[in-house]
Amino acid sequence: MQSARLWARLLGVEGAVIGRVWYDEQAGAVVVAARPRKHQLGRCGVCGRRCGGFDRGEGRRRWRALDLGTLKAFVEADAPRVRCPEHGVVVVAVPWARHGARHTRGFDDTAAWLAVHTSKQAVGQLLRVAWETVGRVVARVAADAEQAADRFDELRRVGIDEIAYKKGHKYLTVVVDHDTRRLVWAAPGRDAATLGRFFDALGEQRCAGIRLVSADAAEWIAVTVAARCPGATLCADPFHVVKWATDALDEVRREVWNTARKGGDTALAGELKGARYALWKNPEDLTRRQRGKLAWIAQVNNRLYRAYLLKEQLRLVFKLKGVRATVLLEAWLRWARRCRIPAFVKLAKAVTAHRASIQAALTEGLSNGLVESTNTKIRLLTRVAFGFRSPEALIALAMLSVGGLCPPLPGRA
Ligand SMILES: [Zn+2]
Repeated sequence: MQSARLWARLLGVEGAVIGRVWYDEQAGAVVVAARPRKHQLGRCGVCGRRCGGFDRGEGRRRWRALDLGTLKAFVEADAPRVRCPEHGVVVVAVPWARHGARHTRGFDDTAAWLAVHTSKQAVGQLLRVAWETVGRVVARVAADAEQAADRFDELRRVGIDEIAYKKGHKYLTVVVDHDTRRLVWAAPGRDAATLGRFFDALGEQRCAGIRLVSADAAEWIAVTVAARCPGATLCADPFHVVKWATDALDEVRREVWNTARKGGDTALAGELKGARYALWKNPEDLTRRQRGKLAWIAQVNNRLYRAYLLKEQLRLVFKLKGVRATVLLEAWLRWARRCRIPAFVKLAKAVTAHRASIQAALTEGLSNGLVESTNTKIRLLTRVAFGFRSPEALIALAMLSVGGLCPPLPGRA
């Protein structure tokens, strides 16, 4: 193998013509002079279109490449500017690096891969770069991968949710694909305008292809989905519906407790206070003592016990799924409407109002569980991405990590 070709391969710059190679004493690094091949000369760094020259730019420029053994390595080349009819005066494209980068593609990809797979400290020490540099690399690599892969093309069933970070001071809206189980989109904010930007990116035709959307009962999601995706059915999140029931039950417990307290029945009030967890927990998780507590409630307070049974039956609806669930939901609604416990009469109204999306969740068996687990992973990433100081870098890291966009290590694919 000729030495020029060997150098090109070593540095991962196969698309280039290699010139002189030398050791730069001051930088303590191997420097390899390179230039793009003839057909790649004079192209716009943004779009790759061949353009007229503008000036010599900053003259020679260096791009950090992956280390050669224990030595740092750089690719050095001219970086003239061209005038693109669309992008104006820009630095020319070079085949070994992304536009605007001071690192080669191989270096970028390695840094991004390490950011996803190892610790912050490991990336910094192994590559000898600052964490903020890694943040910029991650953003660049993610943007590049997003352009290359059309993640929006086959979207049929999506989950939408919000995630709080920075101790609940900041929010992201996230969208996951139920079919690939990947994160497809995220943006800072949690409102109709933010979600609207996702549907803008999708375009009218692909919006029309969306069949199912799972989400909690947030009004802004329901409204935006209804306006932008005419063919989509909204699936309620069973977890949230069950939580409504648990809240209603707690309201009843407090009422009964207050009545007992005001009526001077301190013994009953005390016992009820301790019954909170027995009422909350799923029956299969109850301890013996808590089971005893429930039996006691059944004896002394019929109203509270009925409220408990109403909560449990609604929970059972979502455990069953399918036709049996639909029949049980029907029966539950009849019971709740006539139960004469205000909190549950109100709950029956809310369930009726969201009937279509609850029914969709039962028939489709789609829950927001996937979105929740994606959110847990993103929340872990917020700690890693802390030093990036921007939500965009956090989103980029999430796209690489849970969006399936992480590049393979150079030379492995
Ligand atoms: Zn251009």
